[in-house]
Amino acid sequence: MSVQFNVPTPLRSFVGGHNSLLIDANSVGDTLNHIELKYPGFKQRICDKEGELRKFINVFLNDEDIRYLDCLATPVKSGDTLSVIPAVAGGSGQTFQSLLSLAKEQVPELNPVELKSRIDSKEPLTLLDVREGEEFRQGYIPGSINVPRGFLELQVESKIPDKQSPIALYCAGGTRSLLAGLTLKKMGYQFIISLAGGFNGWAKESLPVTIPKVLSEKERKRYNRHLKIPEIGEEGQLKLLNSKVLLIGTGGLGCPNAYYLAAAGVGTLGLVDFDVVDESNLQRQILHTADRVGQPKVKSAIQTLSGFNPDLKIIPFEERLTSSNVERIFADFDVIVDGSDNFPTRYLVNDACVKLGKPCVHGSVFRFEGQVSVFDPSDEAPCYRCLYPEPPPPSLAPSCAEAGVLGVLPGVIGLLEAIETIKHITGIGTPLKGRLLTFDALETKFKEFKIRKNPHCSYCASKEGFPGYVDYEQLCSVEAN
Ligand SMILES: [Zn+2]
Repeated sequence: MSVQFNVPTPLRSFVGGHNSLLIDANSVGDTLNHIELKYPGFKQRICDKEGELRKFINVFLNDEDIRYLDCLATPVKSGDTLSVIPAVAGGSGQTFQSLLSLAKEQVPELNPVELKSRIDSKEPLTLLDVREGEEFRQGYIPGSINVPRGFLELQVESKIPDKQSPIALYCAGGTRSLLAGLTLKKMGYQFIISLAGGFNGWAKESLPVTIPKVLSEKERKRYNRHLKIPEIGEEGQLKLLNSKVLLIGTGGLGCPNAYYLAAAGVGTLGLVDFDVVDESNLQRQILHTADRVGQPKVKSAIQTLSGFNPDLKIIPFEERLTSSNVERIFADFDVIVDGSDNFPTRYLVNDACVKLGKPCVHGSVFRFEGQVSVFDPSDEAPCYRCLYPEPPPPSLAPSCAEAGVLGVLPGVIGLLEAIETIKHITGIGTPLKGRLLTFDALETKFKEFKIRKNPHCSYCASKEGFPGYVDYEQLCSVEAN
């Protein structure tokens, strides 16, 4: 017969996970010594260097506190129960040291050179940096993703949905990543390793490090409200600053696009317009001012936009878009925003985007109604010609100059284009691809229509390659039948 020694949860990892032990001993101290023989390091959790019971530990013999008996010299006999009751603070009661030991048991560690050869072997392995964002921005192991330790439980499942996928964790020195590994294990992740010595150890071995481009202090202030949105954050803002957007026209649709894209931090805006500011433009074309009537619209736009965001780079194209200059003008841009007011330009823009594989954000307005969509020939989405294989005859397609337009309507449609542009650049949300959104200002109604990719589209589905540009003026001046 022996004494039953009950182990509290925080100490179980030191005795092989047992919640109680049966020990043959004749005093409390003797019991602890026996346990120490089997599980070295255990006794120091209970007693200090002098061999005295630690202040935050109570040991009960049956229901008596041994401090009120003979303390460690208290005799025990067969059938007695000894219980260790440590102070707990509501949580698991685990101390840092006990957690760390548990983590070391459960999370295998690799040194930097071992991790490097795992990475080089091209076996699937997700590198997860659990340092704070600020530390990550100073430099990280190439290919890593960053989920700060404090956000681990909240964000890791969205970033690494597959719990079978092997993950290598690292922090600065190797401690936070071990604890993070324990958390991931509890969340069901199966294959976790931790980098011993952390990023600092990795850098000391002169292994490769990526130093990311970061926002300047000034940019952090200016785009603070974007940085607060997790979907955009610093990464998204850098994408915007590095992006190049071409606006076709600086008229009704181009103006709100230009204003908001410049404000949101798109780094480079190209402006295509050969027109001059007319008094009748001022009803809606808000980049231009009364004192600039007669001036080229592109120059007027530059004047407004550079006062608004001095860091914006503007590339002006004061020329009419034609099939002979369209590829030169489009070449350097990531997204084309169509704010044109005529069909020849609209078809030309579509055809060039199909040929060059560039996304086109489409907007158009007529009196009280507007349309928006995103045509992206680089994936399986339809193009403008899938929606409208041919332009309407001129008698059915009056321009704004002929038919008129509500002055604020291009603001609504242009800003929907700007939103789609930002979504495309940052890769967030669901793009308006394969969908036509219409807005009726008189009824205040949005409607959405599905646009199918036309398998016989002469442009985006052409098997023989790009069919060539056509005479767009002629294409749009022919009356049907
Ligand atoms: Zn098409």
